[in-house]
Amino acid sequence: MSDTQALIKKFRVKPGERVKLRDEDAGQESIFPDKDIAKAATDVFAKDINKLQDRLYAENKRALLVVLQGTDTAGKDGTITSVFRETSPLGVSVTAFRQPSEEELAHDFLWRVHKALPRRGMIGILNRSHYEDVLVVKVHHLVPKDVIEQRYEQINAFEKMLTENGTVILKFMLHISKGEQKQRLQDRVDDPNKRWKFNPGDLKDREHWDEFQDAYETMLHRCSTPWAPWHVIPADKKWVRDAIVGSIVKETLEEMNPSYPEVSWKKSDFKIS
Ligand code: AMP
Ligand code: MG
Repeated sequence: MSDTQALIKKFRVKPGERVKLRDEDAGQESIFPDKDIAKAATDVFAKDINKLQDRLYAENKRALLVVLQGTDTAGKDGTITSVFRETSPLGVSVTAFRQPSEEELAHDFLWRVHKALPRRGMIGILNRSHYEDVLVVKVHHLVPKDVIEQRYEQINAFEKMLTENGTVILKFMLHISKGEQKQRLQDRVDDPNKRWKFNPGDLKDREHWDEFQDAYETMLHRCSTPWAPWHVIPADKKWVRDAIVGSIVKETLEEMNPSYPEVSWKKSDFKIS
């Protein structure tokens, strides 16, 4: 088993496993103890991901879907910026999901997500996702309990259908501690350049911290499948978070091993004057 495969095994949630988030150390850095080395590693992963995406695009048969979830300030935007900063804008799409619009609410909860999925050859990133419909929707009782209960299986079936149609799925929960979130929210209040990110509504969600953690645990338990696994990423240290996610994305693309297509002609068939 390579180092990266061992790393994937460490952070991947096995089907049926019950993760206790309070026992998962969000601040762990033993895997990437040196900040500079971790940042340099992320740079290399980012460059490799770009090269692999080029092959994925040329092959034009499969897509990679990266789902990012985490509480407010968990670092979803920062992870995308670091891990995909070398990926050609032509090859990647990012979709952020906020409160659903009137039109989105008039459809099933997967409708808006399905429309945002990557076409073959692309990497699609979801910044929040259909999982909000078993997280914030559950915690704030926005739909009846039995509707939530049905959704776990509906999500698994939806994701299975996607993988059977050529989309490889990776799901990352960015796990931060409550203390780290306090610090990051305070930074948003204090730093004039970050103030625009501060949303007083985030404080309301913070009051429901334990209920959110419970909802995340249920989601991880019910929806980490062999075809669309969840990973719980220690995310208090940004450089650790980026290096782990980067290495898993790169390894997954390498395992997909996309290839440049053969052409049906010989070089000598053409003379370009
Ligand atoms: P942000 O990611 O900071 O732009 O915030 C987006 C907000 O939209 C978060 O508070 C999410 O919880 C909320 N949100 C996302 N999806 C849903 C959903 N399906 N139903 C209700 N709220 C949602
Ligand atoms: Mg927010």
